[in-house]
Parts: sequence; structure tokens; C-alpha cells
Amino acid sequence: VSDPHVALPPLAGLETARLDWSADAGNAPAPLSTRFADVYFSQHDGRAETEHVFLDGNDLPRRFAAWQTQRPFVIGETGFGTGLNMLCAWACFDASAPSDARLHLVSTEKFPLTREDLARSLAAWPDLARRAQALVAQWPEPVAGVHRLWLDERVTLDLHFGDAAERLALLEGQVDAWFLDGFAPAKNPEMWHPALFRALAARSRPGATFATFTCAGVVKRGLAAAGFHWRKAPGHGRKREMLIGEIAAPPAEARRQRTPWFTPPATQPARHVAVIGAGIAGASAAAALARRGVAVTLIDRFDRAELGATHLQGALYVKLAADTNLQSRAYLAGLLYTRRWLERLDPTQRLWHPSGVLQLALGEKAQARQARFLANHPLPEGVVRGLDADAASAVAGVRVEGPALDYPNAGWVRPMELCVHLAATPGIRFRQGEVTALQPGAAGWTLALADGERLEADQVVIAAAGEAGRFAQSSALPLQPVRGQISQIRVPEGAPALGRVVCAGGYVPPAADGVLNVGATFGPNETDMDERDADHLANLAELERDLPDFVAGLRAAGAELSPERLTARVGVRAASPDKSPYCGPVPDAEAWRDAYAALAKDATRVPDTPGRHHAGLWISAAHGSRGLASAPLCAELLASRICDEPLPLEQPLVDHLHPGRRIIRELIRGR
Ligand code: SAM
Repeated sequence: VSDPHVALPPLAGLETARLDWSADAGNAPAPLSTRFADVYFSQHDGRAETEHVFLDGNDLPRRFAAWQTQRPFVIGETGFGTGLNMLCAWACFDASAPSDARLHLVSTEKFPLTREDLARSLAAWPDLARRAQALVAQWPEPVAGVHRLWLDERVTLDLHFGDAAERLALLEGQVDAWFLDGFAPAKNPEMWHPALFRALAARSRPGATFATFTCAGVVKRGLAAAGFHWRKAPGHGRKREMLIGEIAAPPAEARRQRTPWFTPPATQPARHVAVIGAGIAGASAAAALARRGVAVTLIDRFDRAELGATHLQGALYVKLAADTNLQSRAYLAGLLYTRRWLERLDPTQRLWHPSGVLQLALGEKAQARQARFLANHPLPEGVVRGLDADAASAVAGVRVEGPALDYPNAGWVRPMELCVHLAATPGIRFRQGEVTALQPGAAGWTLALADGERLEADQVVIAAAGEAGRFAQSSALPLQPVRGQISQIRVPEGAPALGRVVCAGGYVPPAADGVLNVGATFGPNETDMDERDADHLANLAELERDLPDFVAGLRAAGAELSPERLTARVGVRAASPDKSPYCGPVPDAEAWRDAYAALAKDATRVPDTPGRHHAGLWISAAHGSRGLASAPLCAELLASRICDEPLPLEQPLVDHLHPGRRIIRELIRGR
């Protein structure tokens, strides 16, 4: 049920930029691209040129000063390069915009610089050092896709790695001002292509402006054909002329003609949002909204204080399919996002640990699967790499049998403490209670609580895991409860230590505070929370199968492994039938079944009716056992949608996560 019009390019690593520094005239270093035989910025006055061409060309100082809107001002760029343009835009925003205004930067880049080259290039601009540092610290691995960075509390940067035209066609969001950079058309003719101009037009807000250093005929013709008005303006320095202009009436969104149900609802005011559920999905959604200046009431039946020191550890890991699919892409994007997000949220690593994750391949089938995964996914070694048994044993710190996939950037998290930390974000009010029903009203929603109280909110986010389907509005979304028990082993002095989270059938992170968390069991449709000996035995058997040498070492050191010596943590996760999370607006299931009934007879009979949603009602649920990888990115996705900002995922992935997808699937299957 995804739209075949917008195919995603392969999930792969990208070639990085090849720079030559010898063109340096003596003072500031000036990087030259050997691929394009062109410079990234002018050696003498790169900043002045950026300010003249891109900032003044789009009238940004004046527009920033006048920006009173709740949503952020959005700049789009082709060719991020060293980031000079975007850092200058950020500095200009700080100098001009009101203190509560926000800025959102979107930039494409086909050949990202390495982190070292980026740092070296930006060293030319000492005035931008603080901003450059924020960028360099979060600089992503060169993987095709969207990478969201928080530059500071009010400035967000989305790096869309890949070809500009391709990436902008996949962008879910609209732009106020364009920087058309990307080397001169004579040196880079592939980029300045009609498809690029069409994509620019399609992602423009009405009245969006552009500025570019070039006056080449192909640019003028391309812009005009796509609906932009251009005019010449005086160029910078020795360059006589440049182009500026705008588009009054961008073309209507045409991407969801074959999947009209995924058409997003119109944006509504969101001054106060209630979030139901303060686990990782709800707490991260609440924090994402609060960061945007939205007042949040976060509601959970459990008091935050009770969640203190549980010694619980959750693995930040993903299981990627051997052959690329939308689910794997969404999870990989989530893993990379969570990692960046944790680093910024908690630089001291009190709440998480970047230990890396090793995924064992026990048995021939698993090994063949991993080999196929590696052949299909040429990804950077910092993201995932294949290791033979010896190399895997070396990073694991204990003997492992057979090869493994290694995710050096993954790790583990203290989920309870993380949720408590997120709930303390300024702007969030925590309310202990149980929401029993949701009533729509003229101005928003009324939440009925079990204690009889009523709460009003403009909008509501349901993030209540296994209970997400309890409301009349969300009850049509299939959600399966899955009980999981973790066994906690006290680690004696002298026991072997793990260097990685190790997963196979279950997972085990390196011990923290003298406790090993081994788990978890998988009990579909079970919801009881009591500790079971049988589950302890299953966890121990799995650990013994995966890491026999490690278990022998634990025993030799005197660890007590009988069930009565273990403690347990029991949870109920929720899963969707296709095992992808639900993230997005809550569909009005009855209206969908009505509007799309014809699909049951003929799946090609797609009416052009957009999907009806419960206005102002959102969900982030069905994160299963991989919520640490999916929930923080889903939180950004929801907050971005609610606040009318560009989204941090490509449009086909946004649609893949849409909570209504199962309704369509069931209609097509005639159920
Ligand atoms: N805006 C940059 C800055 O502030 O440093 C300078 C941009 S540099 C002149 C041009 C950039 O466009 C290079 O980083 C290059 O790799 C990138 N580029 C070239 N062709 C591209 C394409 N088809 N899609 C996306 N980026 C492209």
C-alpha cells in the first residue's frame, strides 16, 4: 500500500567528498573538490559572498526579524558542502529573529565531507566556531537518508544525504527560502536538471523565494518552466550578476494520488497537548513537543518517582532484513537518530552507554542471512560491519561461535531513568492518572480520568503501548500484547565482562551496577505481570546457547543462576501485525472502510478521497521490543507534523508508519 511513484534509492553508504587543500593561498585553508574541480567557497571572502548571495538574495535579515509565526522558518538548500551557508543563516537568524522564533534548515548532499574535512574547512571561520562545533559533533555517517540534528534549542538541521532532486522529491515538508548552491552548472550539469526544478517547486510554500550565484541559461529556463519568476540582481565581488526570485503558486501536492488515505490532515493549533503514556514513546513525544514551545500534560498511571533505580537496561538495537524493506529503513534511521539524540540529551552517559551491539549468527541459516544482508547493504563500518568469529569474540570480550554483525554505534539505555529525565523537560507537567475515554469537542479534546477528573487539551497523543487501543477512536488499530520477562543476575567479582550488547535469540548488555539483564521472553497475547520460573529458565537456556563460554565463566566465578536467585522485570510490549510501529494521525476507521470499500473488490479502484482522521488525535505505539530505536524518531515525526515542520523521514517511510495502513490492507484482502 505504498505509492510506487516515489521509489527509494538503495539503502547504502555514500561516496564522501574528495578534497584538495593545496589550492590554499597561504592564509585560510580553502577546500577544492577534485571531483568537480571547483571550490566550496571563496578563499578571501566566502562569508561575505554567502551573506550577499543567499541571505540578502532571499531578504532573510528582514524576514527573520518579522517572523512571528509558531512554525519555524524553513530554508532548503541543494549542496550542503561545508555547511557555511547554513551556519551563516543560523548566525543571521540569531542576530535578527525574535527570541521565540524557530529555524528549520533542510539541505541535500550527495558527497558528504568526512568529519575531519568538515572540521578543517570550517576552521576558516573563527566567528562561527561555536556553531561549527555543534555541527561537527553531530555529523552523521555517510548513509543515504534523512539525518536530523538539533543544532540548538530552536534550530534544527535535516541533512538529506543523496542526490538533490531525488531527495527533494522524497521530502515531506515545505520550504520558505531556497539556497541554490551545488557547484556551477558547467561543472555539475547533472544536478541542474529539470527534475530538480520541479522538486523545488513542489516543495515550496506559496511565495517561497530562491537565490543563486549562477546566471546560467539552464537555471533560468529550468526555474521558469517549474513556475518560478526569476530576475537578475548584482552579484558579489567580481561576479556581475546572480539570480533571485520566487514562486507564487507552487503545484498542488500530487504524490498520494494512488494512496489518498495517507494524505496528512490540515495543521491545527497546538498550544496544549496531552500525551497519554510516559514510557519511552510518550516521554520522548512530550519532550519533542515541549522543545517546540508547546505546553504538554504527560499522563501515566504510574508515578514517576516509583520508577527510580530498577537496574533495567534496554538494548538500542535493530534487526535489519537481508533484503531492504521499508521497515528496515525506518529502523535504521531510528537507530542513527536515537544515538545522536542520546548524545545531545545526556553527554555524560548517565542514562545510556555506547557499548555497540553484536548480533550473532548461530547456525547456517542465520549466517547465510547475514552474508546476504552485507552483500545487499554497502554501509559504512561505523554503522554495521561483518566480523568473523575471532574478531567478534575480540569485541565481545568473550568467545562467540560463528560470525556476527557488529553495530559499533548502538548500545544500551537505562529506559526508566531516561523516561524520568525526559518527563522533567521544562514545559511538561506530569499528571498521575488513568485516562479512560477521549471526547472530541469544538476546541479540542476532553480526557476523562478514572478518578473522575476531566482534562482539556487542544490535541492528544496516544502513546500507551498495550493500552493504546483502549479508546473508541483507536480501537480499530490491531495491537497485540506481548509479555516479556527479563532475568537479572548478580555478577560476582572476577566474572567475565561483556564488551558489547550481545543478541541472538534474546539479548544481554554488559553488566551495569553489578547486575546482568538477560532477556527477554516473548509471550504473545499474554498480559500477566507476575514473575515466572519457567521464563527465567528459558532466558538462561538462551544465554547458554548464545554464549556458552560466558556462562561457564559466570559459574566459575560463583554466579548463582537458579531461578530463585534471580530477580525479574516483567513488561508488556505492544506489536502491530506487520511489526512496524504506528506513528501518525489516528484514522477514522469507519470513514475509511466506507470511503475505500471499493478496494475490497478491486485494489486498483482508488477513489480520490483523502483519509478522514480524528482531528488532533495522534498515536505513537506498537514499538514492540525495539522502541529505543523507533520511539525517539517517531516522537520527532509527530511533533514535526503537529507543528507544521518538515518531517525527519522520507515520505514513503512516513506512509509506511501510518497507523491506518492495516485498515487498507484488510480491505484489499477482503476481510
Ligand atoms: N553550500 C556549501 C557551503 O556552504 O559550503 C557549498 C556547496 S559546494 C559549492 C556544492 C556542493 O554540492 C558539494 O558539496 C557537492 O558535493 C554537492 N552536490 C553536487 N552535486 C549534487 C547533487 N546532485 N545532489 C546533492 N548535492 C550535490
